[in-house]
Amino acid sequence: MNRRLVEKADELLSKEKGTVFKEPGGRVSVCLVWPNTYHLGMSNLGFQGLYTLLNERDDVVCERAFLPDPEDMEEYVRTGTGVFSLESKRPLGRFDIVAFSVSFENDYPNVLRILRMSNIPLEAASRGPRHPMVVMGGACAFANPEQLAEFMDLCFTGEAEEMLGEFMDAYLNPSSKEEAVKSAMGIEGVYAPQCYDVSYGKDGLITGRVARGGAPEVIKRRYVKDISKYPLRASIITPETEFQRMCLVEAMRGCPHSCGFCLAGHVYNPPRKKSLDAIKKEIQSALEQTERVGLIGPSLTDYPHALDVLGMEGVDFSITSLRASPRSVAIVGLMQGKKSVSIAPEAGTERLRKVIDKKITEEDIIETSRLLLAGGIERLRLYFMVGLPTEADHDIEGIVTLVKKIRDTSAKGNIVLTLSTFVPKPFTPFQWHPMQGIKTVKERLKHIKKSLGSVKGVKVFHDVPKYAYMQGMFARGDRRVAGALKAMLDEGDWKKASLSAGVDPGFHTMRERGLSETLPWDFIDIGIPKDKLWERFEQLVGL
Ligand code: SF4
Repeated sequence: MNRRLVEKADELLSKEKGTVFKEPGGRVSVCLVWPNTYHLGMSNLGFQGLYTLLNERDDVVCERAFLPDPEDMEEYVRTGTGVFSLESKRPLGRFDIVAFSVSFENDYPNVLRILRMSNIPLEAASRGPRHPMVVMGGACAFANPEQLAEFMDLCFTGEAEEMLGEFMDAYLNPSSKEEAVKSAMGIEGVYAPQCYDVSYGKDGLITGRVARGGAPEVIKRRYVKDISKYPLRASIITPETEFQRMCLVEAMRGCPHSCGFCLAGHVYNPPRKKSLDAIKKEIQSALEQTERVGLIGPSLTDYPHALDVLGMEGVDFSITSLRASPRSVAIVGLMQGKKSVSIAPEAGTERLRKVIDKKITEEDIIETSRLLLAGGIERLRLYFMVGLPTEADHDIEGIVTLVKKIRDTSAKGNIVLTLSTFVPKPFTPFQWHPMQGIKTVKERLKHIKKSLGSVKGVKVFHDVPKYAYMQGMFARGDRRVAGALKAMLDEGDWKKASLSAGVDPGFHTMRERGLSETLPWDFIDIGIPKDKLWERFEQLVGL
């Protein structure tokens, strides 16, 4: 194994507090893989929580692996080094289970890159008994795992705490991988893609889906009823993450607002709140390792114990983002002296915020921003989307006007605008809606950037639209998108790769869909009836 790459892994380990080292003997070995860099993976509470959960079992040894950093990739290729685990430097192919945690669609190509670098056959059907079982969990696994279906032995549809234990128990008993897959299929929420045949009509639409070998026709998403009983805990503290030396503690899961565009606001519902007792205990145990605690939740303004928690003595708290509402005022007061706080107005006009069902008013956005800036926050981050359903030029102008109004409320602090291209997601009312044309999106991004370029103390950043369209294809694609993913291993340009594999990106991104169309993810029961989502879709785009 290449010495320089091993030394780099050891250097990362040396900066960690809380790493688990276990003897492998007699234990099931799981390599938990984040299909992107160490920095991003270790900043994710879900990934860290899985590592903790699996290592809490005595019969399991769980280690971690990541996509190599870009600057190391050449060395990996030159020396023929495969991806290996951080803890024992074991190649992925020598684990019993390789478990991908996938939260972002644009990481799909990295899943295949990691498998290929590790000499593990890509397709589940080509893997034999000497190969590891390859499984997938994370938000992408329960929104729409179909593009990766060909490569996965199993997908976990739902929250890990709820079914991981049942899966590991099932895995321990059978004598072969085939048997393990079969017995796991009996666990609610576990999806074995190889047991289904999907057929398509001449128009490219799905015409049928047949379950074989006793596999369930519908896969029901599992979720934890009480997050106080099963805390998702980060056990490793390291300076090498987005939240340097900070321990992440979950306060809430799911969101009561279910904004029309938001995947998390639908697939993680119902909203669940951690009890004050449970969160205080978790914070006390985090303080044994660090004084910095990051509170995680989709909308902390709605967390009933936010003030009690943020008022705890001796803790340096950080929160992800604030919802602009009168209820945030007291929390804003506790944020004084913090470097950065985010607010997500998402759209520039009241009308468009109604269309996307973002239930905040211009008054709330301006007042919350004013309080934060005047209170001494260094950076106010504002998030907006471009390319939203029914968006017109005046909505774009509305972003410019709104930011100028916010700037006028206080000369203190910097305003950092992040603009991203809207990508419709499964299980949201906009799952039927086409994406906006890329030319229009680019023009609108350019207009906002130019219009705010000369405003003092305002900086504008935006995503690269072409990658938003790639995300769009991966988010709502079907099993045939797997061809594009394989072609991307040798052709960097995702569009060229798709076309060479016979996959039309426009079919998955720009096409208007109807209620009667079978969507690739319809077989997942997320807990929201399809006709209810359609009703909401019609109501929102009609506004
Ligand atoms: S408030 Fe935020 S987390 Fe909640 S649904 Fe809306 S966008 Fe999603």
